[in-house]
Amino acid sequence: MSQKRRTFMGQILTGGIGLGIGYFVGAKKEKSYPKDSKKNTVSPYKEGLAISTWYHGIAANNAAWGVISSGGNAIDAAEQGARITEADVTGKSVGIGGTPDREGKVTLDACIMDKNGNAGSVSFLQGIKHPVSVARKVMDETPHVMLVGKGALQFAKEKGFEEEDLLTAETRADYKKWLDTSKYDPIINIENHDTIGLITMDKNGDFSGACTTSGLGYKMHGRVGDSPVIGAGLFVDNAVGAATATGLGEAVLKTCGTFLVVELMRQGMTPNDACKEAVNRIADKQNYENFQIGYIAVNKAGDVGAYSIHPGFDYALHKNGKNEMHKVDSLVK
Ligand code: ASP
Repeated sequence: MSQKRRTFMGQILTGGIGLGIGYFVGAKKEKSYPKDSKKNTVSPYKEGLAISTWYHGIAANNAAWGVISSGGNAIDAAEQGARITEADVTGKSVGIGGTPDREGKVTLDACIMDKNGNAGSVSFLQGIKHPVSVARKVMDETPHVMLVGKGALQFAKEKGFEEEDLLTAETRADYKKWLDTSKYDPIINIENHDTIGLITMDKNGDFSGACTTSGLGYKMHGRVGDSPVIGAGLFVDNAVGAATATGLGEAVLKTCGTFLVVELMRQGMTPNDACKEAVNRIADKQNYENFQIGYIAVNKAGDVGAYSIHPGFDYALHKNGKNEMHKVDSLVK
């Protein structure tokens, strides 16, 4: 570098000339998002809320609300809410009673994320009814984020989780019937998939989230979807907001779906517009005729939004004393 240029650079870095000062001050002003997350975690919204995907979200929200309304924190609320859906044997897309893969095995994916950006996740976990709680232990008690398969099971057992048969009489019978054709055919919105993604905000205005699923029914053995992947099935940034996803996990994975939604909110988009843009990114590149994606999101002000590819997606929102289902606008009308 020449002496002249070195001096010029030095002047810019120390703000020693007008041009230098103008450039740096101008650039700073343009940033509308919080640069230092730790300094921007105070929310104007202090009422607390729980929002989750699909109808099973009503019961999950109730459990989460039980924690929040008694002064508990968002992470406990997210875990407790997700556990309700995992334990529901009638739900064929989450936890016990979840639809198996094409080998007849129920393999579960789940993750959890807190206000500090800590995260835990398990995937391809078999024989454990509450993968979300194993994910919580991965977050709280290991230096890792994600454990899979046998290692996840070993860890769960070491932590005292009991191994049990997750097939029910009904899912076993369904599987037998499925073997007649062995046709893999994801149906939009219904039955062979429907994850619960749950976002909670406590009365300090802090966020957490959880996402748990048995994944696509009759998927390939070993297949992992978006739900246990941080930034795909779930993302929380306490300075900005949180988002979670449901639908064909492959499409969400390829677009880092929920990370994208949160980043778009960081740039100033409403939760609704951010979900819409994230859906559009999928639609731009992929043939979306035969699969569904649904996003839900919340920002720091407590505003919620959602968007899906096809009609039929809905979410449960516990806010202002009501726990109700909301229909979602979609790209395809
Ligand atoms: N996203 C889940 C998966 O791909 C399924 C779903 O949400 O319906 O495993």
